[in-house]
Amino acid sequence: MNQSDLTESQVAAPLQAMRVRWDSLQPTKGGMTTFDSPRFGMTRNGGTRAHSGIDLVAPVGTPIFAVADGVIEQTRLAHPMFGADILLKFKPVAAWRGYLARAGSKDDDGVLFAHYAHLSALRVIAGQRVRRGMLIGLTGTSGNADQAYPHLHFELRKVARPGTGAAGLHNRIDPELMFRVDFSAPVEALLRATHTA
Ligand SMILES: [Zn+2]
Repeated sequence: MNQSDLTESQVAAPLQAMRVRWDSLQPTKGGMTTFDSPRFGMTRNGGTRAHSGIDLVAPVGTPIFAVADGVIEQTRLAHPMFGADILLKFKPVAAWRGYLARAGSKDDDGVLFAHYAHLSALRVIAGQRVRRGMLIGLTGTSGNADQAYPHLHFELRKVARPGTGAAGLHNRIDPELMFRVDFSAPVEALLRATHTA
């Protein structure tokens, strides 16, 4: 698939409800109950460990949608960390280039990759063309997601294989730059849950 085969696309949210677990409890060294932040960046283990995407609370089986017109770059059924996942290649409209430049995108072609992880079902295959808003899978708890904390782990990548850990953050963009998330609905039952991906 040639980059030039991608046409510029408007973007839309990956979930109908973009709810993020309330983030009031911060990791401490005092032995208090803590949980991992749902946000992107060095947000784990008191700021010492990277989180490569955002975690959107979603009951198992919630539909996930293509964020833009594009091509399915890769699907996997059982990645040790991400479980069943989907990688969507797309080219956001030029209006987003400012954000991409600010985020230090290394590519000037503006191509991005949306990564959806911990799914329970896939509705697309690699190489398939999709349209923005198309149902491409269902959320779940596959991979190393905590079973008590169903969520969609969602990333925006500048390259298909961005690496892991702190270094890998530089090959990604904070999804909150592109998508509005809702912190207003605390999910109390999930506050004490822990998870790793
Ligand atoms: Zn995550």
